[in-house]
Amino acid sequence: MQPKFGSEDNTRRSFLKKTAVATVIISTADLISPGSNHSDAQRKKPDRIPWYKSVTRWGQVNITEKDPAQYDIGWWRKFWKRTETKGVIINAGGIVAYYPTRVPLHRTAEFLAGRDLFGDLSRAAHEDGLAVFARMDSNRAHEEFYKAHPGWFAADASGKPYKAGDLYITCVNSPYYNEHIPAILREIAELYHPEGFTDNSWSGLGRESICYCEFCKKSFHDKTGYSLPEVKNWNNEVYRQWVRWNYDRRLEIWDLNNRTTKSIGGVHCIWSGMNSGSISGQSRSFRDYKEICRRAEIIMLDDQARSDSSGFQHNGEIGKMIHGLLGWDKLVPESMAMYQAGRPTFRLASKPTPEARMWMLNGIAGSIQPWWHMVSAYHEDRRMYKTPGPVMKWHSDNEQFLINRKPVATVGVVWSQQNTDFYGRDDAEELVELPWRGMTQALIRSRIPYLPIHIDDVDRDAAQFSLLILPNLAAMSKNQVASIRRFVEQGGSLIATGETSLFNERGDISSDYALADLFGAHFKESASPPSSKLAGEAYHTYLRLTPELRGQPDGPKNDNEPTVTGIRHKVLSGFEETDILPFGGLLQPLNVEPNAEVLMTFIPQFPVYPPETAWMHTPKTDIPGLIINRTAKGSRILFLPADIDRQFAVSNLPDHGNLLRNLVRWAAKDNLPIAVEGAGLVDCHLYEQEYHMILHIVNLTSAATWRQPVDELIAIGPLRVKIRLLKNVRGNNLRLLVSNEKIFGEVKNGWCHFVLKSILDHEVVVLT
Ligand SMILES: [Zn+2]
Repeated sequence: MQPKFGSEDNTRRSFLKKTAVATVIISTADLISPGSNHSDAQRKKPDRIPWYKSVTRWGQVNITEKDPAQYDIGWWRKFWKRTETKGVIINAGGIVAYYPTRVPLHRTAEFLAGRDLFGDLSRAAHEDGLAVFARMDSNRAHEEFYKAHPGWFAADASGKPYKAGDLYITCVNSPYYNEHIPAILREIAELYHPEGFTDNSWSGLGRESICYCEFCKKSFHDKTGYSLPEVKNWNNEVYRQWVRWNYDRRLEIWDLNNRTTKSIGGVHCIWSGMNSGSISGQSRSFRDYKEICRRAEIIMLDDQARSDSSGFQHNGEIGKMIHGLLGWDKLVPESMAMYQAGRPTFRLASKPTPEARMWMLNGIAGSIQPWWHMVSAYHEDRRMYKTPGPVMKWHSDNEQFLINRKPVATVGVVWSQQNTDFYGRDDAEELVELPWRGMTQALIRSRIPYLPIHIDDVDRDAAQFSLLILPNLAAMSKNQVASIRRFVEQGGSLIATGETSLFNERGDISSDYALADLFGAHFKESASPPSSKLAGEAYHTYLRLTPELRGQPDGPKNDNEPTVTGIRHKVLSGFEETDILPFGGLLQPLNVEPNAEVLMTFIPQFPVYPPETAWMHTPKTDIPGLIINRTAKGSRILFLPADIDRQFAVSNLPDHGNLLRNLVRWAAKDNLPIAVEGAGLVDCHLYEQEYHMILHIVNLTSAATWRQPVDELIAIGPLRVKIRLLKNVRGNNLRLLVSNEKIFGEVKNGWCHFVLKSILDHEVVVLT
């Protein structure tokens, strides 16, 4: 059992007193006096930690303006209890107030009718020992506000306000953010003492529009010396400075709001705006994930449902990505929709339980904490009330193994938001996200645990990795290039794809790859544009494996016996029956150094239709698709100018997935901490705690794997698993947290071998 909020004394006073004194995690020695009779289990449980580190299950009724008339607080209190909810997010103010506010122009919800709904709910939650996150939405306001302060709203070059439906978008540089929102935060903090504040949509106007209000004009000029850019132009330095200036302003807002809430509510009364699960979404909203995580105590993740393209596994990945920036001792609760979110959206219809459940479970596998989310306090579709309970209960029972743990992986996949911004620009999906997704899907498909690693953290985290993968990480600064070099100099291996290191951090193309010497290949400037600029198209192109194992490409032989003309490299194993692979992208000639080896070459496009014309017009070129290089210290470098990663994300061809798997295994020198055998698509996450290893396997095998929603779970098994044991884990005793069984592991040469008979949705194995 984790420490419960107010469990000893269900009053808000005691709750506040407790949180006020809590500052840091107190060591066991501080908690337990010598000779006390606490059990070992109790000894390990510090009981005074800040709420944002101890509230591990959240719930949210997103209140509609109609709800004050129909919100049955008594019913929901029982629901909180039934679902083991430890904290609630309650709509407080912003667009509308759910309490009687005195802040001028802070309009109350249409059906509030004098009721103090936020106050009633906050008091109920505190009485029940729950933490309260007061939810704001500072992004927009009503017409009456606009008429009173038209200058506080975002406007285009002609002075016309930007609108979202009937509402007006507020300007982040105006007194709306500097005075009005802080006044609301102070009022709520003084009246209701919520533990903290969150904000649904706090970062103002997105990147697609430029605000030309007087506040923006002045601020931009003061800070950069320039006038606001007239148009979007990524090649223009002023536009790029505008992008950076926008990021900086959002960080200022983050800091200002925290100063405000802490000045009234104390040091733990934090403000934490919600953030997205999509890096390009963060980019479009000017939210600098790295800098936000550097200053946040908790990340409130608003990423409510899966997309068909990235799957449930995205939730495991984003959890690890954020923890990598935030730290593994902090929490990342995620808003998980119990209604039909995604495409199409039905706010008041229940999401099929298996779909909602799988999203929750895969998030938990990535060390995310569950936060059920419903829109409106009253539902005619009551089926959603049954969805969160079982997952929340299971989480509560097994929480000690689901938080405060560190991931175990030898493969790091490197990312940066600057690559999304300044290389991806308006095509980040094709240029940045697809290569990432194809690479990580191939890793998941191959049951290879990996960690997303921010490029600025490479030096910090390098020691744990054998291999770093750079999936089209094109825009890199000199320092970032240097950190990759240091990793390789220490013996680490590298896989780089596409245009990796061909651009500087601002997205200007260079004359050569900054990592060209490691790749053993140099960029040739040519008349035609670089291949990735044509990303997203599918071309009828192929890759020729070298050497060919059968026949001559320009003169097919009639006999069926292969004429072996050479021995292929191990990374091409499994393709002995073919000399070509389907590709789909385009390639340019490169200058390859003599020591580097070209393992695949490009076959240019030829017609698909009509079949009579579907023959290779140029069967052979020396344009490289895959180059292999080694360093003096034994690092293995694989450079894939062919965007196999992106092609895999687009086309899902097993050849591409298998090739990527081969490359990773070879480059990592087979230094992988687990192996899982048996049919099915599974997502494997491995962690360590002091005396445990924890393997979380999520079963993604379903008729709806690539098309939401899942309606039926399909069991897989048996799976044969082996895990390389860490020093402090013996590996004899295994607990299965889902099937609730104990099994034995066979330990041989430092590995623990065991069999999982069957997995329906997920299983967690704790090795002791
Ligand atoms: Zn403005």
